[in-house]
This record gives sequence, C-alpha cells and structure tokens, in this order.
Amino acid sequence: MYDVIIVGTGFGGVTTSALLAKKGYRTLTLEAANELGGCAGKFERQSFRFQAGATLGMGFEEDGVFSQLFHELGMSSPPVHLLHTVMDVHFSERTIRYYQQKERWFEEIALQFPKDSGAIVRFFEEMFSLADALLSFIYKRPMIPPKTMKHIFEAIQKADRKLLSAAPFLFQSIAKRLQHYGIRDETFIAFLNGQLVDSVQTTIERCPALLGAVALSIFHRGAFYVEGGLATVVHALAERYKQLGGALRMREKVISIRKEHHWLVTTNRKQTYEAKHVVFNGSVHSIFAVLDDSIKRTFSIREEKEKKRPAWGAFTIYMGVDDNFQTDSLYHQFIIDKTKPMSEGNQFLLSTSAPFDRQMAPLGKRSITISTHTDPLRWWERDAYDNKKNMLTQRILQRIHETFPLTNVHVELIGTPVTFARFTHRAFGKVGGYIPNDPFSLLSTYAPQTNVEGLWLCGDTVFPGAGSLSCALSGWIVANAITMDK
Ligand SMILES: Cc1cc2nc3c(=O)[nH]c(=O)nc-3n(C[C@H](O)[C@H](O)[C@H](O)COP(=O)(O)OP(=O)(O)OC[C@H]3O[C@@H](n4cnc5c(N)ncnc54)[C@H](O)[C@@H]3O)c2cc1C
Repeated sequence: MYDVIIVGTGFGGVTTSALLAKKGYRTLTLEAANELGGCAGKFERQSFRFQAGATLGMGFEEDGVFSQLFHELGMSSPPVHLLHTVMDVHFSERTIRYYQQKERWFEEIALQFPKDSGAIVRFFEEMFSLADALLSFIYKRPMIPPKTMKHIFEAIQKADRKLLSAAPFLFQSIAKRLQHYGIRDETFIAFLNGQLVDSVQTTIERCPALLGAVALSIFHRGAFYVEGGLATVVHALAERYKQLGGALRMREKVISIRKEHHWLVTTNRKQTYEAKHVVFNGSVHSIFAVLDDSIKRTFSIREEKEKKRPAWGAFTIYMGVDDNFQTDSLYHQFIIDKTKPMSEGNQFLLSTSAPFDRQMAPLGKRSITISTHTDPLRWWERDAYDNKKNMLTQRILQRIHETFPLTNVHVELIGTPVTFARFTHRAFGKVGGYIPNDPFSLLSTYAPQTNVEGLWLCGDTVFPGAGSLSCALSGWIVANAITMDK
C-alpha cells in the first residue's frame, strides 16, 4: 500500500514525486515509456541525442521556479547556460534578434521598428509589469480555480495589491492592448504571433492579455540552454526522487484507475497497486481511457467536452548534422509568410545543441530539433499521412536551406502527432496544453485538485498551463495540497 501513486514522469509527475518523497511519503511512480520526461524527453540515435519536444529552459534564474525547487529538494542544478540571445527570428526580408536583456531588446526594437519603437517599448513595459503581478501570485502556488473555502482563503492571502492592479486586464486580449498603443506594424505583429503560438498556443486576437504578458516576459527573467537537453532536468529530479526512497517503474503503463476502499491502479504488466491518492500526469483528455466508469460518472470533467477541446499537435524533424552554423544563436524561429497562420510549417522553431555539448553530439556535429504546430486530428488518415509528412518536411527544410546549409546529414527522423501519441501517451498526439479560445479562457482552466477525493492532476492541461516551468508548478501545487491534506 502506497500513500501516493504518480502516473507519468513528465515535468509535472517528477516534481510531485520528488517533493512527496522528500516529505517522507511512500510513493510509486509509473511510466509507460522507455524514457522519462514525456514531451520534454530525449532519445538517442547513432552518436546523437535528440530532444523530443521541449528545448528552451526557463526558471533557472536565482529566484526562478527550478532554482527554488532544487533548493527545496536539497539537490544541485544540472548545468544550464543563460542565453544572451534567446533566438533569432527569421522573416523573408530580415532577421530580428530577440535579446534576453531588456535594455538590449529595447535597442533592437529601436533598430527594427524605428517608427513605432516608443509605443512598442511602452507595450512591453506594460507586459512586464502585468507579468510581475501575475507571477508573484502564481509562484506562491495557489490552487486555481479554488475548489474549497480553504483554497479561496489561501488565494486571498497569496494575492497582493499588484495582482489587483492587473484585474482590469483580466478579460482583454493582446490585440486589444496593441490597439491601445496604436501598434499595427505587420512584422512586429507576426513576431508576437510567433512567440505567442509557441507558448500560449494562440495568436494576438485570442490570447488573454495576462497569459500573453507572462509569455512575453518570461525569457527576460531568464532563458537557458540546458546541457544534455531539458530531459537532463527530468533525470536529475527522478534521481533525487529515488535517493529519497521513491519507487519508479519504467515501461509500466497504467490501464485502469478505480476506487474501492482505496485507489487501485492496474498496469499492463497485470500488477495492481493500492494507494490513498493517485496523481495523473497524462493530459486531461487522456485520463478517460483509464478511469473506471463509476469514477467517470462523478468526475466533473466530461469526456465528450474534453475530446472536443482544441489543442495542437507537433510535427518535428530531428537531425544530426555537421556543425556549419556561422551564428552564436542556438535557437532560430522561421516565419515564412507573415500573413498566414503560425502553423503547418509556416512558423517553426529550430533548436541546435551547443557546439560544446558532448552529451548531445560528437565534436564538430550538432543535434537539431525542429518543431511546428499542426492540427493533430489530420494525421490519423493513413492515406494522407505520407503525403502530408513529405510536404511539411520539404517546406521546412527548403526554408532552412535558404539560411543555413545543412550539410552531411548523419541522421534524419520525423515525428508527427501519431509519434507523439505513441511515445508520450497523449490521446491523438495533442500536446502543449489547450488553445485559449478568447480572453475569457482563463476562467476555464482546470485545477490540479479534482472533485473526486484523492484524485489529482498535474501537467500542461491544468493550471498554470503549458511549458516545463508551469508543469513543475502544477506538480508542486499537487504535492503541497496532498501534504496539507494529511
Ligand atoms: C514540440 C514541443 C516543443 C516544446 N518546447 C518547449 C520548450 O522549448 N520549453 C518548454 O518549457 N516547454 C516546451 N514544450 C512544452 C512542454 O514540453 C510540455 O508542456 C511539458 O513537458 C509537459 O509536461 P507534462 O507534465 O504535461 O507531461 P508530459 O510531457 O505529457 O508527460 C507525461 C508522461 O506520462 C506518461 N504517461 C501518460 N499516460 C500514462 C499511463 N497511462 N501510464 C503510465 N505513464 C503514462 C507519458 O508516457 C509521459 O512520459 C514543448 C512541447 C512540444 C510538444
């Protein structure tokens, strides 16, 4: 009998596991895959290591979420490097260098958008102060939306005056704020759309101002290259978890979660484990495949509604190449046509391993992960699959070749939503949390605590949302709630 069973080792799951083990809870963590980390996992081919999805680290600055988490767990941080250039954003006619330091970024704005630079800087200043207000609240790890009177009371205690000042922006979109500042420059708006789709999963019209503010500020708090890839962080957390006495079983997929006196979790290895609590780190839309009917009936999240909730899929290209990059920037976003949607290869991110990183590639070579947003539902028709895969690959590689000659390709592999569904166990290969529909979307966030006693959720489909940092926070919120629940 365990105190807690954690299903999945994404950023959410490993964080909950390690924190609970630190508090002395008897924990079992079950991972269906061969590798830890889910969307932030890795895999190896020939002498290269590839990052499956997530590549850019955040929250490693001095008071950042991961720094606090490592401190809490009594462990040291894996080696990370502050990026002075977060990324180069390539348009057909020019490249914008996205600097991490605010002052340098504002100089770049003056250079790139001389006519609108005053308004754009004021817009960013507003985003930074909104993000400060919101993050100082979120980093205190409140249960949002509150489920009990205790949560409401705690949320009020954690809120401060700064948060109140953000209230007028609660139902505004980023588009509305741009309108306020009279900003209409097509390239700047395409730049914002590219940044927002990569973090909030949507563009200026549908992006709630508060979420957008966090997305547009977070790199300026700290953007990091993690040696060996982001999976190194997941591995370090899992190692610490095991040192603290936690049990971890790989290649053991949970196929049923039901409740009798306690929770009973059954796996594909025909094992049934018993616990007082279950934390599900698979995405919310994937939980219905394992939840027992009796729980589904009382579960406040409805399966039908959840299936229809829009989310992106990822199309990825992994390459091991000779190092011919004549640039110091490790991350490159490409926007082919500013007027077209930021998906299906029209916008993509190319992340390269650092030239010094021997965990990722041999000397003189680089490991590359390229990713673009794609409609996940269109990848499940066998007939159209190969066509779509070849078309997207060609479109992306053709654009890259205009900027970088990718010579001597030693490895080239493709990932589609079908691949993500298979390796990360996310139904239909839906990744990156949910797509906000409008500025009111903040109100339809799911809380990590469910209405079913002892059943918890963490990961990018619950508050505070997508990204390694947010998922770690969701895991931390769950661990706190369980320990207070005792
Ligand atoms: C292409 C791409 C690029 C991204 N880039 C970035 C980036 O640069 N920076 C960043 O911070 N974020 C990025 N993200 C987002 C980030 O990767 C995710 O939001 C985050 O990693 C999700 O973590 P999670 O906790 O939701 O768990 P997941 O990653 O969903 O992992 C869940 C784990 O649970 C396991 N599991 C599921 N069901 C079961 C079951 N029934 N039994 C046992 N195990 C199960 C899965 O195998 C998996 O290992 C990116 C995402 C993608 C797809």
